[in-house]
Amino acid sequence: MTMNHMIGLGLLVCVAAKAGALQHSQDKHFCESCGEQASITNIVNPFSLVDVKIAENTNEWKAQQLNLKYLLMLNVSSLSYNFKNTSGLPLDDAVPFGGWETPHGPVGDDRGHFTGHWLSASALMIEATSDAQLTKNAAELVSVLGECQKANAKKFPKFGPGYLSGFPTLYFDCLENLWQKPCRYMQVPYYNVHKIMQGMLDQYLLLSNKQALEIVTLMADYFYKRITTLIQTNGTSVWERVLDTEAGGMNDVMYQLYRVSGNADHLTMAHLFDKQKWFGPILNKTDILGGNHANTHLALTVGGAQRFDTIGPAKADSYRTGVEFFVETLTSAHSYSTGGSNFREYWTQPHQLGQTIVDVKDAIAGHDTEESCTTYNLLKILRHAFRWTTDPRYMDMYSYAMTNGVMGIQKQNTPGVMLYLLPLGVGVTKGNSTRSWGTPFNSFWCCYGTGIESFSKLADSIYFQGKGATESVNATSDANTPSDAVTSSVDDLWVARYVSSTLRFTVGSEGEGEARGDAPDVLVTQQSSMDVDGKSTITLSSPSSQQPKMTFALHLRVPSWAIASKAVVTVNGKPISGAIVAGKWLTISRDWMVAGAEDTVLVVFPTEVRLRQLDDNSTSHAYTGMNSFVFGDTLLVGVYTATSPDAGNNNITVPSLTDLSSWVKRKTSSTSDSSTIEFVATTATQVITLIPLHQVDEQRYTVYYNMSTPSPSNVKNAPMLNTQPQK
Ligand SMILES: [Zn+2]
Repeated sequence: MTMNHMIGLGLLVCVAAKAGALQHSQDKHFCESCGEQASITNIVNPFSLVDVKIAENTNEWKAQQLNLKYLLMLNVSSLSYNFKNTSGLPLDDAVPFGGWETPHGPVGDDRGHFTGHWLSASALMIEATSDAQLTKNAAELVSVLGECQKANAKKFPKFGPGYLSGFPTLYFDCLENLWQKPCRYMQVPYYNVHKIMQGMLDQYLLLSNKQALEIVTLMADYFYKRITTLIQTNGTSVWERVLDTEAGGMNDVMYQLYRVSGNADHLTMAHLFDKQKWFGPILNKTDILGGNHANTHLALTVGGAQRFDTIGPAKADSYRTGVEFFVETLTSAHSYSTGGSNFREYWTQPHQLGQTIVDVKDAIAGHDTEESCTTYNLLKILRHAFRWTTDPRYMDMYSYAMTNGVMGIQKQNTPGVMLYLLPLGVGVTKGNSTRSWGTPFNSFWCCYGTGIESFSKLADSIYFQGKGATESVNATSDANTPSDAVTSSVDDLWVARYVSSTLRFTVGSEGEGEARGDAPDVLVTQQSSMDVDGKSTITLSSPSSQQPKMTFALHLRVPSWAIASKAVVTVNGKPISGAIVAGKWLTISRDWMVAGAEDTVLVVFPTEVRLRQLDDNSTSHAYTGMNSFVFGDTLLVGVYTATSPDAGNNNITVPSLTDLSSWVKRKTSSTSDSSTIEFVATTATQVITLIPLHQVDEQRYTVYYNMSTPSPSNVKNAPMLNTQPQK
């Protein structure tokens, strides 16, 4: 592709410089960003974290609060150290961070990336908690980085006044010279710059910080000029070599910025980062995941989804189908029972996960699995795919990845200690990957950056708003006369995940540009113990006694692991009519809150322990016999004391692979906490205590057991994305 062709693409697209584009971002009630509001391709939209709050004292709330503590432990002078150092501004008595943020460390061009993540995380956390000190710190950091950018305009003037990074432009020179001598910098500077740009854009989109928008716009201008000059001088082949290095979500942030600015250069630059070596095969539905670095390509794929959201079906439909193909491929041929993927940061060939869990020739098999930041990006992709389709399977997968791959990486009760890699092997601990647990001030890995974002947005993607449904089963309640249909004048409410929380829901808003009052139409309160006993109670109440009624459809996700025959849904105590089908939406269309009365919806979606087989198509029983235990979306692992002789032995003989009820029993002792899950599996070879992976802290555990039975039988595999609903 030539440069002229690429610039032509930018000029041809429908420029989104709508008069009100900048004003929309001031409206924080509807969704998390102006960019999302401007999207033309979504059936449903998420709510802003301003409107959704996690209920206090839940696991999610504790995780969020721990993360808030950590964000506040990181002071502005340390967060800005490398930027000031690069710009030549006085450092005063600032103390630099260690780890990947070390000012002169061996991995020098990673420094600054975490500061970008902190900007994104603090914007999300401020929306979620309104914390005053964090608000002050975030504004101060943007201001200080603005000073650094101004100083850089004189220090690094070659491509304009916008350079901002924790390292000098020399690193980009080296990258563009393809690291010919004497360059010794061989890392990933665009990966780093992406975090800073996204952080600034989030400060603008979520907190309306206009200086942050000015900073990111100047950065975009600088890099646009730098990149187009490189291509004009050296040709596209050099640019393609540059793209062989990890560039994070440069395409992602540039599509979002374009939706704010309407500047065609921003769109052109976004397209330039849509690496065709990746998207070419993926758009042609070819599985090229094997051997590729997972997080590099997950972040790129988030950008591909953003491309579809930005320029729409007419110009980017193949990107939507490509992203959907990618999700299907990743989850059906490369994923673990956690919902996550990758070993040593790379994907294996399809259906070849056995050697990543147990391999006598590879000491880190089972240890260096599932890089945490890959789960963060997977969740973004699933959220895009869900918003396009309302396909409940995407939220099933989202729940798996969130429950195990996010909630499982934070050390309990200790702020700032998280995992890079999530061990999924035999007799492992979370700390015995080659990275171990991180430390608050001396790690700052990629996964620390994504971790602080993940734990700031735990209230995201619980509820969605929007019209239309696919795979939906309509139900009625006899509590009053159901509406004839979901009227076109209102939006529906979608309960995508069952997490104790509150929602301020304003019915009928079209989101973009519409004036919104402070008072919502509906207060939604959810009390959920879905992960423990399959139950959730959702209360809808009106903040105004003057309100006669509200008419909208409530869509409830019936997880694919629910036992439909035992499922119950009631409205104000009366069962709804209509079938409850696992893996579908259950839609209740009716008038709510008639004459201001409160309505209560009870859902009971019971599940049971099932086996989930390790994805390996070899003929060796050592791999094909490997199964994990799952309960709903929760991966259960066998836990052991440090000295247990069984900890390193995952070969077990079990009574049956299809009927687990005879040998896997719920622990119901009077001392057990009713808010936790614990099972005991009694096998011929060992008695195993099973608890959720996300509750493991320091214990040794085993994820996959090599199971044999007295007589051969097929595993009843627990559903992930591609399997049919059970029962
Ligand atoms: Zn990472």
